[in-house]
Amino acid sequence: MATGNFSLLAAAARRLEGKVALITGGASGIGESTARLFSKHGAKVVIADVQDDLAESVCRDLSPSSTSFVHCDVTKEEDVKNAVQTATNKYGKLDIMMNNAGIVGMVDFEQVIRVNLVGAFLGIKHAARVMIPAGKGSIFNTASVCSTIGGVAPHAYTSSKHGLVGLVRNTAVELGQHGIRVNCVSPYIVATPLARELFKLDDDKLHGAYSNLKGGVLKAEDIAEAALYLGSDESKYVSGHNLLVDGGFTILNAGFC
Ligand code: NAD
Repeated sequence: MATGNFSLLAAAARRLEGKVALITGGASGIGESTARLFSKHGAKVVIADVQDDLAESVCRDLSPSSTSFVHCDVTKEEDVKNAVQTATNKYGKLDIMMNNAGIVGMVDFEQVIRVNLVGAFLGIKHAARVMIPAGKGSIFNTASVCSTIGGVAPHAYTSSKHGLVGLVRNTAVELGQHGIRVNCVSPYIVATPLARELFKLDDDKLHGAYSNLKGGVLKAEDIAEAALYLGSDESKYVSGHNLLVDGGFTILNAGFC
């Protein structure tokens, strides 16, 4: 007769049991899918976003005892500091920081840099302040395939995403000595409000026109799976890395039009 240890199997199935995660831009798209997956895997999740109603409805949908929302504009240092404090006050610590909030911002170069790059810097800074005393932590930023190639998105967006990779390389070196890992996850196109704004296409066209992927349409849930890997101890030796989730698009680098 098989004598499997079912409690161990259950623990393995919940890969973030006991961990606390803060996700900026967690009210929608990739951040929302990640919040849902992290919660399913046993993490306490704090969503930090500017869209209060949307974030609150995600929290209501997940377990209210293990999910919280804090209003946070990542361009404002006080907001980011407060979001980190909310996580530690509520759940006692911070294990995972996902700097995911982002905009395309077709016109305002500086605002895109403020949200996509400065916002991530502030997230790293304030997460590190509570992770350093703990001697561990996983921080990662949602970059993009635009972190490695040009010609796809506006100048500001591409610059901000390239900047995230540089930021990760520097901070991974500095924070590695404190046991903190810093990475990027870089998606190809996922049909979210942001991609709809960038490409001005409906979802069918978004899915179809740009898909080189053998595995079919790339979904926010697929990016959440990569985030789960970066947040979990299974990636404990991965730091300073830019994890492309693009079905090989970047190496094809075929261009879009
Ligand atoms: P989305 O629009 O669904 O989600 C972005 C979230 O960020 C929203 O909830 C929004 O309210 C929040 N946000 C915007 N500005 C903010 C601010 N100042 N402070 C706090 N929150 C703010 O889009 P998404 O596609 O899920 O984007 C998530 C991340 O993924 C972004 O960094 C984006 O650049 C990146 N990304 C997206 C794609 C794609 O095709 N969708 C591809 C590559 C990278």
